[in-house]
Amino acid sequence: MSSETDFRQVSRSGRVNLEPVPYLKRDVAERICDFEEVILGYDKELAEDEASRCMQCPDPQPCTLSCPAGNDIPEALWQASQGNFIEAALVFAATSPLPEVCGRVCPNLCQQGCVLGQRNGAISVGKLEAFVSDVAREAGALAITVPEEKTGKHIAVVGSGPAGITVAEDMIKLGHQVTVYESWPEPGGVLIYGIPNFKLEKEVVGYKIQDLRDAGVTFITNTRVGEDVMIEDLQHEYDAVFLGTGAGIEATMGIPGEKLDGVWKSTDYLVRANVKEDMRPEDKKLVPDIGRRVAVIGGGDTAVDCARSSIRLGAEEVTIVYRRTEAEMPGNQSERMICVEEGTQINYLQAPVEYIGDENGRLTAMKVIKMELGEPDASGRRRPVKIEGSEFIQEVDTVVLAVGYWPDPLLGDKTDNLATHNWGLILTDEMVGATTREGVFAAGDNVHGPDLVITAIASSHQAANSMQAYLEGQPVVLPKPKPRRKK
Ligand code: SF4
Repeated sequence: MSSETDFRQVSRSGRVNLEPVPYLKRDVAERICDFEEVILGYDKELAEDEASRCMQCPDPQPCTLSCPAGNDIPEALWQASQGNFIEAALVFAATSPLPEVCGRVCPNLCQQGCVLGQRNGAISVGKLEAFVSDVAREAGALAITVPEEKTGKHIAVVGSGPAGITVAEDMIKLGHQVTVYESWPEPGGVLIYGIPNFKLEKEVVGYKIQDLRDAGVTFITNTRVGEDVMIEDLQHEYDAVFLGTGAGIEATMGIPGEKLDGVWKSTDYLVRANVKEDMRPEDKKLVPDIGRRVAVIGGGDTAVDCARSSIRLGAEEVTIVYRRTEAEMPGNQSERMICVEEGTQINYLQAPVEYIGDENGRLTAMKVIKMELGEPDASGRRRPVKIEGSEFIQEVDTVVLAVGYWPDPLLGDKTDNLATHNWGLILTDEMVGATTREGVFAAGDNVHGPDLVITAIASSHQAANSMQAYLEGQPVVLPKPKPRRKK
């Protein structure tokens, strides 16, 4: 046994007091020198022990209710506690096409629901999900099964991130032919070009893309729908179209100096830092020369990713500048703690008001103002209010903007009868994923704004169901167009 307690022999009522089994992670000094995955997770024995803490709560279990995809977590944990890791992985895979990804990057909404969170600590469901999925992957048990008989229907999927992967898998499993269009050079979307290696190795995504290829899915990369090919063209060629293009257009703050050399947008920065050169587009081959001091503006997961990438690129001082307090900070708290552990300083209640450059247009400093919290805004979080006269100068060599994302407005602008709202979000019926253009469906971040991988998966399953109804000639509820809001 890995500890004095045999976790697997403890009665259900006794499990409530069992201590959590820590997962393994690489030492700080070692891991900040490379871009490899930081979390090593569990081995077989530790995984059995941690899964054995699950009390198998009566239905409806709060963990499953908390998972947007409705993963049957107690069943998966039961299988894992018995050493049946492949069976456990197949339970996760029944409701999610990306269990090995979610296990690594999900902020574990299920864990927030786990009743043990009120006692010794919630079960580490995510780490167990990643572990059992990796075991199943190695055993070749995650292959996608497709019917021998094809339907003759052709589906176009636009975008190959979590939403596109979900619909591609759901549709190919139903016997349709599926073609996925991706604007980046490699399939995977945000999973390759947005999430850094130290959280999610590219190989993990690559295995999933290969599964889809093996099942018969075709990928067409370096192709931007709305520019290189239009939705109207796709509808001539395919029986239905799914839009899973995510939310990849970065917001800026509109303050002076944002065009200076040394001020980066987060995706551009992360791609250059994290993606191998041969997978990057031609205009992103150069790795940033970041200097000694980096400031990342923003407070979400992307800001944390940029800060951690900066440390790995060799910065000596990395600061996250956030306009509210930690209590209002979005994103994954454990990732934030890892980021601080790696040497990032977080300056709360501050915001830049100007970036300052030298005579060559190169960033040298930023003017920062202190903030205090006012009344709650529309998001329910207290609004940051500037403290007049509190400005100070912070010397920096590089600034990375991670202050929000929007969907690409191109599809809405270039496609008749495809209604959008709120700065380019595609209008759909939330329950069915049908857009205002017949035969075109959408789900994920381009519908609800930037959110979690598992949230995109859940809504994309619904859109796939609606596409199937549409292909079978069943009624699909269409949303009522709303007036488009201007920027
Ligand atoms: Fe197990 Fe926690 Fe879910 Fe209960 S809430 S079934 S203890 S994972």
